[in-house]
Amino acid sequence: MGEVCKKCGSTGWDDSGFCSCEVGKRYAAERFRERQIEAGIPPRHRGVRFDNLHEQLNQPAEAARGFANAYQEHKKTGTGLLLSGPVGRGKTWLACAVLNELIAAGITVRFINVNDFFTDYHASLKMERRYADPLFKAQGVELLLMDDLGKENLSEAKLKTLYALLNHRYDNLRPTIITANLPLKDVYVALYRLLGEDTTAEAITSRLTQCNKVLYCRGKDLRTIRKG
Ligand SMILES: [Zn+2]
Repeated sequence: MGEVCKKCGSTGWDDSGFCSCEVGKRYAAERFRERQIEAGIPPRHRGVRFDNLHEQLNQPAEAARGFANAYQEHKKTGTGLLLSGPVGRGKTWLACAVLNELIAAGITVRFINVNDFFTDYHASLKMERRYADPLFKAQGVELLLMDDLGKENLSEAKLKTLYALLNHRYDNLRPTIITANLPLKDVYVALYRLLGEDTTAEAITSRLTQCNKVLYCRGKDLRTIRKG
């Protein structure tokens, strides 16, 4: 039996929230883990923080940390992040470092894998429960991470759904973080083929770039140098 905490009586709580004692720290860590699960952070990425990223990510990490620190400012304009680069360059690690930082700060976030999102969304169209609609949920969350854009084929239906999601979030000043394997010009070409008119394709592409800070992840394929 340890000593009773003078600040919180070992309840783990004081007036300002979790106490700084061992009991308080344990409760804070448990609450953090619960909020990560609610946010859909995959188990592999729950331990990712800015201080344990691979050194190859130092440069984009500095900018990403700057984004997390200034989040309340970015929220006013709905500014998000677009992390671009080839597969295996640590885009998801970096995005999750931002999310985990913001979860710790009490922000409500949601992680979605773009491919899984489309699968769930098209399955939900067969049901008539709007509250369970993945699009509805992704539109409404304060900060959304869309991981792995460009891995799947951008069919007409998917592009329309993507546009509905991004446009809704844009109009409501909700920041979105996107990790993308495909160059933006490919998005533009796909949109142009689909929509036919230059201005709409341009509008969506500029929506992706103008309301997001663009960070590039370059270098070696980290999957070949990271163990496990
Ligand atoms: Zn205490």
